Amino acid sequence: MSQPYRHYEVASQLVEKAATAMQLDPQVKELLREPIRTLTVQVPVKMDNGTVKVFQGFRCQHNDVLGPFKGGIRFHPEADEDEVKALAALMTYKCALVGLPFGGAKGGVLCDPSELSQGELERLSRGFIRAIASIIGPDKDIPAPDMNTNAKIMGWFVDEFAHVQGTYQRGVVTGKPIVLGGSAGRTEATGRGVMYVIRQAAAAFGLELEGATVAIQGFGNVGNYAAKFLHDEGCKVIAVADIFGGVYNPTGIDPYELKDHEQKTGSVREFPGTKPISSQELFAVKCDILIPAALGNQITARNAQDMRCKWIVEAANGPTSPEADEILQRNGILVIPDILANAGGVTVSYFEWVQNNYNYFWSEDEVNQRLEKVMADAFQEVYKTYSEGKGTTLRIAAYMVALERLAAAMKARGWVSGN
Ligand code: GLU
Repeated sequence: MSQPYRHYEVASQLVEKAATAMQLDPQVKELLREPIRTLTVQVPVKMDNGTVKVFQGFRCQHNDVLGPFKGGIRFHPEADEDEVKALAALMTYKCALVGLPFGGAKGGVLCDPSELSQGELERLSRGFIRAIASIIGPDKDIPAPDMNTNAKIMGWFVDEFAHVQGTYQRGVVTGKPIVLGGSAGRTEATGRGVMYVIRQAAAAFGLELEGATVAIQGFGNVGNYAAKFLHDEGCKVIAVADIFGGVYNPTGIDPYELKDHEQKTGSVREFPGTKPISSQELFAVKCDILIPAALGNQITARNAQDMRCKWIVEAANGPTSPEADEILQRNGILVIPDILANAGGVTVSYFEWVQNNYNYFWSEDEVNQRLEKVMADAFQEVYKTYSEGKGTTLRIAAYMVALERLAAAMKARGWVSGN
């Protein structure tokens, strides 16, 4: 049997690599080594058949030197403590990299949402928020959507928190429905951010986006919008896969029509005019840009060698194993790392929180313009560190930029000694 993937250990190794490359103050490294706290909760839910089922959940708060903890909550059968810890750490580095005044957190509930009725899902969502209510709040820790959670669930979260606290505080959660103070453009933000980063990278590394071929694993909230925005940029989406299977057409697939088909049938499979392919075959498709936009640990030593793309743009969190990373680097495949590529979601979450704080709302154009600036600035900083030869890969360069900011904040707050 294969060993379970050690998410937190892998995340820590990356930090170690970047820390060594930049000779990071060992005190800073020590403070980032383990999350500040992880709360484990048991959530009893009355099921529709009258029985009670207990679900286990976690909220991990990794580091808050830059501001209140921030990060999504995922509902997934594999969202165990180790994965949630690793994802919380990723949020610390992601927020630091793009310059948001937030720390990093993540939540997870071990469940299979496809097996729950709407009523069960609502009771589970409300129960989880009650269970973690004492450690969250608009200035403490602000949850958001992640895998299998969405605006509807955020609406239940914010309502349940209001019941617990006795006051309605909309800034406790981001990714809410617009009517509850959600931000215009939040749903599309991660996919849109992926496109903005690709725009920057295309200019920096000389790739013509008009006609550039794209393959995407995952057609959920992130993959679907990334496909649409890249299509709008003139790219040709040639392969898409979801958990049920994939479709391929070297002359291009219209992602808008594909979404309609997926909504009608429940999957991208059997989209007219395409050939069926598996997720693994999708990874080996010859293309310019390969976008993993699903689960973590998908690109591994087993399939990295077969990849024939020019770039991998990590729309998912942690899709590439360290062994695969080395193979890709050797084979000259450029990897735009998760903490940069998918930071658009948390960036618009930040905009939502700002709008909630002053109860004044921006237009979608305003949100998108600000998002493009944040993504472009972050890319340029990473690119500078990389092209000056400080970071050997864009991933290491991104971690170096993030660690620099975290170290400066720790010094300024007096958490570590030094001037
Ligand atoms: N779950 C998203 C992420 O991994 C967004 C988090 C947020 O908006 O706080 O970046």
